Amino acid sequence: MQTAPFDAVIVGHGLAGATLAWTFRLRGQRIAVIDQPRPDGASRVAAGLITPLSGPKLIPAWGWSEAWPRALTFYRRIEERLQRTLLANLPAVRLFTSDELRERFHVRFARRNEGIIAREPMPFPNPEWFDAPFGAIEMTEAARLDVVAYLDASWQSLKEDDACYEASIDPVHDIQLDNNGVFLPAFQLRAQRVFFCQGATAQGQHWFDRVRFNPAKGELLTVRIPAITESRTIHQEVWLAPIEEGLFRVGATFEWQQLDSLPTTAGREHLLARLKRFVKQPIEVVDQQAAVRPTMHDFRPVLGLHPDEPRVGIFNGLGAKGVLWAPWLAGCLADAVLHGQPIPAELDVQRWFR
Ligand SMILES: Cc1cc2nc3c(=O)[nH]c(=O)nc-3n(C[C@H](O)[C@H](O)[C@H](O)COP(=O)(O)OP(=O)(O)OC[C@H]3O[C@@H](n4cnc5c(N)ncnc54)[C@H](O)[C@@H]3O)c2cc1C
Repeated sequence: MQTAPFDAVIVGHGLAGATLAWTFRLRGQRIAVIDQPRPDGASRVAAGLITPLSGPKLIPAWGWSEAWPRALTFYRRIEERLQRTLLANLPAVRLFTSDELRERFHVRFARRNEGIIAREPMPFPNPEWFDAPFGAIEMTEAARLDVVAYLDASWQSLKEDDACYEASIDPVHDIQLDNNGVFLPAFQLRAQRVFFCQGATAQGQHWFDRVRFNPAKGELLTVRIPAITESRTIHQEVWLAPIEEGLFRVGATFEWQQLDSLPTTAGREHLLARLKRFVKQPIEVVDQQAAVRPTMHDFRPVLGLHPDEPRVGIFNGLGAKGVLWAPWLAGCLADAVLHGQPIPAELDVQRWFR
């Protein structure tokens, strides 16, 4: 039996698809989502961290001042809808690796800081646990999203509306375009538009084969360090994020050649070697995971409607910052589709068709 038409069908239910679905639903749109669940999807492996200053030079996250307040508002709203806590405030401490790097950071930060707060750590990381001879800063506006809980609870909410399907969609053969919008015969599902939110697997996808991906594999460890009870995330060349008593996640590697989701010995050794440069307590590895981040060639997310086929849209390229960027960018896409507002040129999918 054919279902009543939806405003949009979303293909993919990682951070991009789930957040776009909520953004439209919160604006009164009827949304259906189709997802082929994969335990090694980037969103299910991600640590869920939002960190304002990162990378070797502690550069402000791109778009921070726009993205952070929107992320906070969005996740709090979803928590209210789902009646559960998903986003935890989790301050982040960054340990400097030399006097020179610390001095250079303070000079740069005084010039450009996007309103980010970076203060003396309170308290300073315990010297019994961490080696921090060159000092540290603490970022208080940092957080962690329980991504798996967010995705599972969002899926359940769609299920209650009879609006989600577990399946793999072939963008060419499973979707028909006609005068009324799009039609998916296998599900007898009709909608005005389809949005592809497929993460790194979208590389070379029929509609958007001109979009240039530069996916980056990432690996994470789960480690046990019973002696450490630090409640903040500690960053140096890698980060150590508390999960529960004595248990932490450690990440992450970046690798552009071997784009599979298999944990490797090299990945584990890379993370452990860097972790041991600042952790002074015995470490036991209890798990290792890997996934591929959907990063674009120009390191900017990609969103918008196909230039020749406005019934087909894309939301992708969240790279290493899906939790921070998804709510802001899903809002930009919804504003464009529902109210004709322009998408910033550096994010618009049109940039790949010029
Ligand atoms: C090791 C690691 C650590 C990370 N840590 C963080 C972090 O701490 N903070 C942060 O913000 N980001 C982090 N990230 C990045 C984050 O994971 C990504 O930004 C984000 O998950 C991308 O979400 P997505 O929805 O675009 O893709 P995905 O999570 O890959 O979701 C795509 C979904 O679409 C489905 N799909 C694809 N094709 C089809 C099809 N044809 N039919 C049906 N379904 C389909 C897939 O099965 C999947 O469920 C990390 C990534 C890695 C690898």
